[in-house]
Parts: sequence; C-alpha cells; structure tokens
Amino acid sequence: MQNYSIFSLAKHALTGHLRWSRTFGGRPIRKHYDVVIVGGGGHGLATAYYLAKNHGITNVAVLERGWMGGGNTGRNTTMIRSDYLQPANSDFKEFSLQLWEGLSDELNFNVMVSQRGYLDLAVSDSDIDSFTQRANSLRLRGIDCEILDVPQLKKVCPELNVSSNTRYPIQGAFYQARGGIARHDAVAWGFARGAHALGVDIFENCEVNDFIINNNRVEGVKTAHGNIGAGKVLISVAGSTSLMAAKAGFTLPLETLPAQAFVSESLKPIINQVINFNMGWAFINQSDKGELVMGGHIEPYNGYVQRGGFDRIEKTVSRLITMFPFLSRVRIMRTWGGIVDIPMDRSPILGPSPVDDLLLNCGWGYSGFKATPASGWCMADSIANGRTHALSEPYALSRFRDGYNSVDEGGYEPQPTAQ
Ligand SMILES: Cc1cc2nc3c(=O)[nH]c(=O)nc-3n(C[C@H](O)[C@H](O)[C@H](O)COP(=O)(O)OP(=O)(O)OC[C@H]3O[C@@H](n4cnc5c(N)ncnc54)[C@H](O)[C@@H]3O)c2cc1C
Repeated sequence: MQNYSIFSLAKHALTGHLRWSRTFGGRPIRKHYDVVIVGGGGHGLATAYYLAKNHGITNVAVLERGWMGGGNTGRNTTMIRSDYLQPANSDFKEFSLQLWEGLSDELNFNVMVSQRGYLDLAVSDSDIDSFTQRANSLRLRGIDCEILDVPQLKKVCPELNVSSNTRYPIQGAFYQARGGIARHDAVAWGFARGAHALGVDIFENCEVNDFIINNNRVEGVKTAHGNIGAGKVLISVAGSTSLMAAKAGFTLPLETLPAQAFVSESLKPIINQVINFNMGWAFINQSDKGELVMGGHIEPYNGYVQRGGFDRIEKTVSRLITMFPFLSRVRIMRTWGGIVDIPMDRSPILGPSPVDDLLLNCGWGYSGFKATPASGWCMADSIANGRTHALSEPYALSRFRDGYNSVDEGGYEPQPTAQ
C-alpha cells in the first residue's frame, strides 16, 4: 500500500498526482473465498480489514451492490459517542470509541475524528433523572461523562438558547467530552483501502441475489457476476437485511424504516459540539466544511426508499430553531435518506443465523456508525475463531427466543432514538 504522508504528497505533486495507484478493486473475482461479506458499508469493510489484519485471513471478498459506503455509512450524521445506559451497549461503544481514537493512524487514512463533545439536552426533571442514572452507570464503569446545569452548559455552548421563555426550556445536559464526529465516507474508503492492501478483494456493482444453501449450510452466493463459493458468509447490509434473510429462508425481528438528514449552507464555525435535543428529537453538528448537519426522528412508516418526507424536516427544524434561533435565517442545501433496520430492543443482532456458517451483522438502526470499528473487530474475531466475541455475546439472535435480554435500550428510550 502506498503510504500517505507529507513526503508522498510532495513526491506525487511533482507528477501532477497522476501516478497514485488504485486504492481498492480491480482484481478478478475468484470462484471461492474463505469468507464472503455481503455489503460494502463501514461494517462489512471493517470486518474484512480486521479479518486480514488481526487474523491473517485474506481470502475474503466484499460484495457491494452499489458503491463503497453508498449505504447508511455515507448517509449518516456521523456522531460517535459511548453513552448508552445498558452496560453491554456502552462497553461495546466505548471499545469502538477507543478504536476511533487511533483509527486514522491505524489506517494511514485521515478519517477526521473530531472529539468535540456530545451534549444531550434535558428539558424536564425526568430527563435530568434519567441522564443522571445513565451518567452514574457510565462513570461506575470508568466511562467519562458529566451532568451540566444551565450555567455550565452555557459556558460549553454559548450560542444555545437557554431562555425560560420557550415551549420546552432547557434545564441542563448530559455531556460526554470524548464524543464527537468522524468523516463517514473516509471511514468506508479507509477500511476499503486497508483491506485491499492486505489482500481482500472488493467488488462494487456486485449485488448478491441469493444464497447457495445445502443441508442448512451456506456454501456460497449468487451474484450479478455469477456464483461464488464461500466457507462463511456474513450478511452486513443494514436496511436490506430482512430481504437477505428471506432469501436464506428465515425471518428476523427487524423493521426497516427510512431515516433522513439534511445540511445547511456553509457557515463560519458556530456550533462546536454534537447536540441532541431531547424533546421530540432533533440533533445538529457542524461539519468541517461549515455545513450544519441536522436530523431528527426516523420516518413514521416502514419502507426501503432512501428519502423522507418534508414534514419530518419541518418538525426537526422547528426544534432546532428553539435551540439556536439564528437557524431561522440559514438555508437548507441538501436532504437525503438512508434505510435503517431496527429490532424492537433497539440493539443490534450479531453472530450466527439459523443457517450454518451464515452470520449476521444487522439491527444497528439509527446508531451503528459509531460502532463501525468495534463491530468489524468483533465480527472478524467471531468469524476467524468460530465463536462469538465476548463483547458481541449479548447481541445474539437467540435473545429474542430465550427471553434473556441485557441490551434492551428500547425500554429506556421508548421511542426510536436519535443517532
Ligand atoms: C440519516 C441517518 C443518520 C444516522 N446518523 C447516525 C449517527 O449520527 N451516528 C451513528 O452512530 N449512526 C447513525 N446512523 C446509522 C448508521 O449510518 C448505520 O447504522 C451504519 O452506517 C450501518 O453501517 P453498515 O455498514 O451496516 O450499513 P451500510 O452502510 O448501509 O452498508 C450496507 C451495504 O450493503 C449494500 N447491500 C444491500 N443489499 C445488498 C445486496 N443484496 N448485495 C450486495 N450489497 C448489498 C448496500 O448497498 C450498502 O452499501 C444514521 C443513519 C441514517 C440513515
């Protein structure tokens, strides 16, 4: 792999940057792979990277029906944090946050991690109570966070409107200083480049249409480019998981819903944190380009369309204007959507499926970007060692059958949560 550095940049500048070699793709498809990963989003690519890097398994193909990172990975609002109430969830996300902190160095690719702080705004006494419970639980496990009162909050975020003369006056906030954002498409490209350099084959425009299954064991996939044999197959297709499961002959406790986000014109730096408004959900951060990146609830209906309705934008914007009145004068430039897969406990499903050697990585819903490195790390470990990584154990599909569930984040947040 060509190293990216100030020296290589300078060297290639001399030849007009025309001699950089390809970062991924371009190899012929083999007839058989040890591992086939369906879905070239961040999770699938991270799994491929860690399979090669941590376990030396390089006979791996990532098959993507569109372009790398063109699914939810390239459509999300890029927030990373680890402040979940359930210990299994926060431990997983904290491991991920630690991986994020070294990811640019690890990949020799700037994924633009910016730990600018995450604020969850409280608008009621019960918000303060539940945030305090969450903060206590996190701090007991050594995960940084604090509860801010209004003067402290105003110091951290001076632009925030904390006036009592609003419909839902802000009463304080949960704050995780290590939370922040990362550049979503750089994450896909960085993992793809790293995996390719280690020998993984990556194919775009290669849709998986079906599975080859004999005696309840997966033996390969049927693609737009012919059949490919596989020792193990990982389904890592986010909102399309139910469709894939149906082809393999089973159903999953998942709903698929569109979720949208939108950005404003570019402004000078004004919002320095990632901020979530807890009344009806609306969240905002400012990208390095200066655009304000905004989102709210998922759409209220099931669907596979990658866009949402204007009423969601209107509601979200009205909440954001309560937080930052100057937004009423800012223009929205683009809106887009993704399709998210949500189980009823709002935690992912990782590990074995009802078909032997066919594994699942799904159910990340509206909050899987932040989990990308840890998800790849743990899935790679599970695939390589034929076991379930300890951090993934609580996410087994069997929890819905056995009734043993330690990751019911949905019970704590009864509505579909933000990011
Ligand atoms: C608007 C929005 C905002 C969000 N904000 C946040 C946030 O701030 N923080 C956060 O942590 N999470 C957020 N999320 C969630 C996050 O984006 C996802 O959980 C995460 O990106 C999922 O990554 P993935 O690799 O599993 O899926 P994806 O990136 O969707 O990748 C799956 C890939 O599978 C491909 N595929 C599907 N079917 C097939 C097939 N048959 N054959 C081959 N390929 C196939 C798709 O084309 C896609 O590229 C948000 C999501 C949305 C939609």
